[in-house]
Amino acid sequence: MNKARASLEHLYRVFTAPEGSDSKLAQIEQHLSVNLADFLSRHVVARATSLEQIEQDFNDFRVPEDPEFVSDHAEKLLNKLVANSVNTYSPQFIGHMTSALPYFHMPLAKLLVGLNQNLVKIETSKAFTPLERQVLGMMHQLVYQGDEAFYSTYLHSANHSLGAFCSGGTIANISALWVARNQLFKARGRFRGIAKSGLQGAMQEYGYNRLVVITSQRGHYSLRKAADLLGIGRDNLIALDCPGQTLDPARALEMGQQIQAEGGKVLALVGIAGTTETGHIDPLTELAAVANQLECHFHVDAAWGGATLFSNQYRGLLACIELADSVTLDAHKQMYVPMGAGMVLFKDPDASNAVRHHANYILREGSKDLGATTLEGSRNGMAMMLYAAMHIFGRQGYQLLIDISIEKARHFANLINHHEDFELTTEPTLCLMTYRCVPSFVKQALLEAPHLQPALNSKLDELTVWIQKSQREAGKSFVSRTRLTIEKYPDQPISVFRTVLANPLTNSQHLQEILREQTEIARRSPLWNELQAMCLQEA
Ligand SMILES: *Cc1c(COP(=O)(O)O)cnc(C)c1O
Repeated sequence: MNKARASLEHLYRVFTAPEGSDSKLAQIEQHLSVNLADFLSRHVVARATSLEQIEQDFNDFRVPEDPEFVSDHAEKLLNKLVANSVNTYSPQFIGHMTSALPYFHMPLAKLLVGLNQNLVKIETSKAFTPLERQVLGMMHQLVYQGDEAFYSTYLHSANHSLGAFCSGGTIANISALWVARNQLFKARGRFRGIAKSGLQGAMQEYGYNRLVVITSQRGHYSLRKAADLLGIGRDNLIALDCPGQTLDPARALEMGQQIQAEGGKVLALVGIAGTTETGHIDPLTELAAVANQLECHFHVDAAWGGATLFSNQYRGLLACIELADSVTLDAHKQMYVPMGAGMVLFKDPDASNAVRHHANYILREGSKDLGATTLEGSRNGMAMMLYAAMHIFGRQGYQLLIDISIEKARHFANLINHHEDFELTTEPTLCLMTYRCVPSFVKQALLEAPHLQPALNSKLDELTVWIQKSQREAGKSFVSRTRLTIEKYPDQPISVFRTVLANPLTNSQHLQEILREQTEIARRSPLWNELQAMCLQEA
């Protein structure tokens, strides 16, 4: 076999010359562009390979000494990596928040990589900076509905920003709480502000003995990371329980008042507009009032649910989101943009000045460099993908996508409600919901013998885990699972399947097929008989 050799000539070729049109890489490119779904269904093979087996392919810890031809390497990637990856495009994979993408992102991704702009500063991004500001403005308008005069003042203002584009909801949540923290502990008198003097000085100056953030148990774990990073501490992220899946405003108020009466301070109240696990939306109007009473920052984590604002039919579900001081959105979820597209938006265009940073060689004062108020440094031009998607779909296109997802979830809920061996555990608000397999004879026992509930529920937990794992390993379809407390069983968290019906290619047949596969797995499992024995014993 022809072998590549390290030489300037080889390097030069790698940087410049595309391989021949019949090369392996060219074939891959062609196939990807023409029919992505077909490419994935051929190359991502659904075989039961254990992670341990796959690890064998990734065991070499030495940097390879010799170069390889690009095409040879591409072949290896196909066999080792692509073959054993996850087919997120599959309409029967309904457990992920990131699913199929519209095809135009493929060539656009190539353009993005080719241009390799860096949004940290104008010098390395030029037109990408105003584009990103415009995208932030569009999202800001979607949430806050400002008027013409507002956006003409602030959209491109060097001294303001309507938000920050970032890699995802995690960074967005961290950024929101970072701004809230720095706004709370601003400079006064001889105190130079928390950004310069640190948390200890701030707590002393302001005389608080504790700083907390309040949310519900459905709050995303990124809030815990934020509390950790910002010096608040994970234990001070207070996650109130929520058997009804939404944060109870009265309880949030009571908790906040208690902490403040004891000398602490609530930094922020976080409402969730579309919880990651069940898709529920917190009562934003009431929570805004609570934040007002507690005189704290009100953040809404709409990473998942924010795109619902595109739908005239369903945007009312997020009513009063405009009362939030900051909002997190993820374009790589229900806006069908490739991963790496999150945003935080601020109601007040001045807010992000609380974290503004200047440096000499970059981010000079008065410059429009976006990096001055973002947590991340070098960043790619991902905003272009959202810009393109918003133009190619239009609000009406996004509305259709949102509407069909929600309607599909209601349809699936209906299928489950009418199936003798399943139980819907949380109703869909958005296109997310949870359910579990409860054989009909167990349903009856749960009703007739309440004292058996704890034991039956534990056994059902085992069944849920068993089914979910077996289904995942078989590789034809995928639902995820989580553990929740629901109103029906307030004293015992239960394991449930979690489904996300965001893939527009998923249809009713796929959903029925998933339920059929799940009942089949359940009936074959030893747990089915064990449940039967438990119920019989009682009868
Ligand atoms: C997905 C999600 C996040 C985190 O977003 P990443 O993009 O994964 O960092 C935060 N909050 C909610 C509600 C989410 O659904």
